[in-house]
Amino acid sequence: MRGLLLRSVRLMRPVEGSALEAVDLLLQNGRVEEMGCGISPPAGTVVVEREGCVVAPAFLDLHTHLREPGQPWKERIATATAAAAAGGFGAVCAMANLRPPVDSVARLRECLAKNRSWERVPVLQFAAVSEQLAGQRLAPLRELADAGAAGFSDDGRNALGQELLRQALERAGAAGLTVAIHPEDEEVLAAANPWGGEDPTSWLLRPREAEVSAVRSALDALRSSGQGRLHLQHLSTSESVELLREAKRDGLAVTAEVTAHHLVLEGPLKDPEARDRELTCNPPLRGDADRSALWEGLADGTIDALASDHAPHESPSDPLQRRSPGFSGVQAQLSAVLSDPRGGPLLERVVAALTARPLAVLGPLSGSLPEPSVREGQPAHLTVFDPEGVWRPEPGSWLSLGTNSPFWERPLRGLVLATFSRGRVAFLRRELGWETELA
Ligand SMILES: [Zn+2]
Repeated sequence: MRGLLLRSVRLMRPVEGSALEAVDLLLQNGRVEEMGCGISPPAGTVVVEREGCVVAPAFLDLHTHLREPGQPWKERIATATAAAAAGGFGAVCAMANLRPPVDSVARLRECLAKNRSWERVPVLQFAAVSEQLAGQRLAPLRELADAGAAGFSDDGRNALGQELLRQALERAGAAGLTVAIHPEDEEVLAAANPWGGEDPTSWLLRPREAEVSAVRSALDALRSSGQGRLHLQHLSTSESVELLREAKRDGLAVTAEVTAHHLVLEGPLKDPEARDRELTCNPPLRGDADRSALWEGLADGTIDALASDHAPHESPSDPLQRRSPGFSGVQAQLSAVLSDPRGGPLLERVVAALTARPLAVLGPLSGSLPEPSVREGQPAHLTVFDPEGVWRPEPGSWLSLGTNSPFWERPLRGLVLATFSRGRVAFLRRELGWETELA
């Protein structure tokens, strides 16, 4: 990597807890070579000065659906990780609900090898908690941990009963890994969708009670296991935030994430590409009171992480046909949050929720990633963004194969300029005129 001098940037370091203004940062040979004021660039260094620019540790997405191997027409490892890098992410956690799911050591090894050969930024691969995500029998958690799983989740499904979740927490906890759950109670969902068909992910009616009941039950499982770490994915209701707050007050080892879309959008949404089709997600978008509670949870640290739940799907050919639920969103996480009037004032909290806090969710075995810090001598693992910069998700700027985004073709505030991951350039915004030699 050629040298790059970033002039007068604002440094946001959630671990050190200070936001330094107007510091120069010299990146050379994949490392943060020097930090300070008035650094004189060595010959051949590219110098970039852009007012208001922020440098933070590279983001980590706890919740990405890569779709590959299995459904490469929806998304590829290469496109999802390129989209992630363009969204400021220096690493992503890939969910296990591939076709077939990652519920065996052989399938995990296949995914790890495939990820390594195509990834733009490191992919931490989650394995399933239960065989076929069916909630009947636990997957071989110990063996999956030994083979390199970064955590466990049946995300998309939540068929595990409380007793099986308790056992999973114990086994995963003994291996140092977290169990993440998609908190929607499938019995409550089934009662609400008597003619919904076989696949719970496609059921249309998703009452809030399904989430509240699942959060309560998972917290009970954690209480009775007495060990392990539980992570609640994509919270959407005020009751969930309150239950989480109480559980943390009680000292339980629980963490949670929220997505940008649950924070900033109210449903139902029209698909921007088709007049008569709705864009939906699981759990659904809620009303104002819930979104206010999510913002409060993010602001006071009750909610640990911002995660994308990046869920690319192909467009149905028939404009009247329903889209599969989920949004392709990893590239727009930061921007969607900063485009909301409530996001800007929380910038430091938002950065922490994209960096140090998600890393802590993974626990001590997330050690393959650098510390969420920006310090002299460290490998360049950082994100450069302009909180006021504006862009539009559209062909040309959007790197995911999935255009099923509620932000599609909407102007967004918060522009990622560059992402460095473990000492390498993962993304550079070309129109800035930065030299591609850097890559
Ligand atoms: Zn989910």
